[in-house]
Amino acid sequence: MIYLVYVSTATTLLSDEELGDILHVSRRNNEAADITGMLLYRNGNFIQTLEGPPQAVRETYERIFRDPRHKSVIKILERPTEVRNFAGWSMGFRNADKLSGEDKKAINVFLSEPSDPKTADARGGLVYKLLLNFRDAVSG
Ligand code: FAD
Repeated sequence: MIYLVYVSTATTLLSDEELGDILHVSRRNNEAADITGMLLYRNGNFIQTLEGPPQAVRETYERIFRDPRHKSVIKILERPTEVRNFAGWSMGFRNADKLSGEDKKAINVFLSEPSDPKTADARGGLVYKLLLNFRDAVSG
């Protein structure tokens, strides 16, 4: 298996209904393709991780990459993995606009930093940690 993490920017600010449409289709497709993961949305920005069989993950990412509902899609991490960190989540979701405190601060710091290819791997690791924190917050 592999997992990947990307960030992107919504083309326009999305309503709850539009986000709901994306999630509905994602969950349906991901379940069929044996993909699990998590999607975070904050102030027009997305962070998503996908994990599962390499070909399925890459094909799904290609489809997402071409989706005109977002732009500046940048893959920041792709790694092999023996275990799923988001098992049971065909696509976990957090609208971080509705968060307060430390979590919001952590996302703001990440999103406001310019992306530098030299630090991409370290940043990818940090973003992945953030997604794991959200997983624990949502399930806990
Ligand atoms: P269809 O069933 O053909 O269409 C899906 C629905 O989405 C339809 O109701 C259609 O009206 C609507 N739709 C499609 N394109 C647009 C558009 N441009 N504007 C408005 N509405 C539209 N897909 C996954 O499979 N897994 C994911 O994890 C995943 N994550 C995503 C994360 C983000 C941030 C975004 C923006 C999209 C994501 N998608 C994901 C959706 C993906 O980009 C494709 O739209 C989707 O996979 C197409 O699947 P389908 O052919 O079964 O869709």
